[in-house]
Amino acid sequence: MKTITRLEREIEKYESRTPGSKALWQKASRSMPMGTASNSRMYDPYPLFIARASGSKVWDVDGNEYIDHNLSFGALVTGHRHPAVIGAVSAQLAVGTMYGMSHALESDLAEEICRRYPFLDRVRFSNSGTEATLHALRLAKAYTSRAKVIKMEGAYHGLHDSVMVSVKPTDKEWGAHDSPSPVAACEGVSIDGTDTLVAQFNDLDSLQHGLRESGDQVAAVILEPVMMNVGVIPPKPGYLQAVRKLCTQYGALLIFDEVKTSSMSYGGAAEVFGVVPDIVCLSKSIGGGFPLAAFVSTSKIMEVIESRKMMHAGTYNANPVVVAAGLAALRQVLTPDKYPVMRSMSDHLADGYRAILSEGGIPALVTNAGVNGAVTFGVESVSTYRDWTKMDTKMWQCFWFGMVNRGVIAQPYWWDEQWTISVAHSEDDIDRHLEAFREVVSEGLLYL
Ligand code: PMP
Repeated sequence: MKTITRLEREIEKYESRTPGSKALWQKASRSMPMGTASNSRMYDPYPLFIARASGSKVWDVDGNEYIDHNLSFGALVTGHRHPAVIGAVSAQLAVGTMYGMSHALESDLAEEICRRYPFLDRVRFSNSGTEATLHALRLAKAYTSRAKVIKMEGAYHGLHDSVMVSVKPTDKEWGAHDSPSPVAACEGVSIDGTDTLVAQFNDLDSLQHGLRESGDQVAAVILEPVMMNVGVIPPKPGYLQAVRKLCTQYGALLIFDEVKTSSMSYGGAAEVFGVVPDIVCLSKSIGGGFPLAAFVSTSKIMEVIESRKMMHAGTYNANPVVVAAGLAALRQVLTPDKYPVMRSMSDHLADGYRAILSEGGIPALVTNAGVNGAVTFGVESVSTYRDWTKMDTKMWQCFWFGMVNRGVIAQPYWWDEQWTISVAHSEDDIDRHLEAFREVVSEGLLYL
């Protein structure tokens, strides 16, 4: 009861600071479901409406300033409106927005991506993470002439049907430990006759079970090397290497969905963990704030596209504005020297959280990897989605509103998300972030 009262008080404070957002949300609700362009952006009582952004900050329509660790769900590792990106986009705008025909920048960007994943040599572009994983899975199916894929329980890879399976299943639905049941993620997705099998991340038994049962029909195993859509769950030592071996043994391709993890280092999670996937899916940070995605593989596998056995197309693919933004982001902003700086800031934030939580005697787990991290309240250790569901979501809501009222968007709203650090963040931003958290804790906001 006490927690609810404190939460209600913080929400009242939020409402008193943000009347402009409320009015715009009420207007938007008359023409858009939930009043938002994405289910993920809606939360009670209403979401913040943003007026402008720069570097590590955003300002809402009431003029409140926030240190931004939402960063557009982790896409803006360059920070908002990086001058190099804006300069490249402005130059491109002067000569054309879209051609629907080839242009010189495309292969420059493809080469830049292949430098980061030196074991892969072919790139195709699209516009969102959803498209990247859709095409990657089709590529694996076309290449292997097999129909099934294995994904991890709790993992989010976008909105197409073959991955809208077991995204957030309940304990009533999820089935046996070593052979999780495929569960439709929402109404409108049918799992009747689905070709998607489900395993648990960090649990080789469940993967082995799926491969033993259906191995000769499995085209690919798709996973995030660090699971990022349930807070942050790092792989156990040796887990990714073992998955690689099993895929090779069963003739299935290994797909790394690096839509988020590519910003762990210059060569993404593949470099960090020393594991070579067959296909990598990219989006978010590679676009520098514009909708860009790619699936990346070898010439041997991409031969099914080269020979026109598999169709891949798209009106907006590699449009020159977005490619100019991506090239500037990768060549001028996200250079090799930047990753250690961002990682060290993220470590600083994680250590600060741990110290404050421990001083306050608050049970929570802080995990971080690369530029991302998360506080998972009420649990001691998490290695699978099932562990993560035990978190205290009420405490998390107190945390989020407490932070936002103190000028820090600690992460996107919803407890499955995580913080992101950009090149625009400074040590001062991290100190202010931790100061706000210290205040939230010392005011007893999180105590049950
Ligand atoms: N894969 C991962 C790992 C993601 O985190 C996301 C989005 N958060 C997607 C795919 C889907 O990307 P998009 O929203 O651009 O379709």
